[in-house]
Amino acid sequence: MKCTEFLKELTDYLDGRINENLRVELDEHLHWCHECHVVMNTTKKTIEIYRDNQIYELPEDLRNRLHQAIMSKCRKTKSEKTTSHE
Ligand SMILES: [Zn+2]
Repeated sequence: MKCTEFLKELTDYLDGRINENLRVELDEHLHWCHECHVVMNTTKKTIEIYRDNQIYELPEDLRNRLHQAIMSKCRKTKSEKTTSHE
């Protein structure tokens, strides 16, 4: 699973609205991907704040910002590692 796929399912994952197989895949991704783990924790906290205010949908704006943040981190990590891997 790629980070983009993980992010796409993240809110459903946190809401428990995904099937068991997909949840296992997301759990596996979290085991090795630190960036998504951080994003997941941040999103979880944000969702809890929204829930306290009776708002259930994660705003599109926040979704996009999270997505951009992780994609730029992924790109950065990749370029930093280029010399040692290739
Ligand atoms: Zn990831």
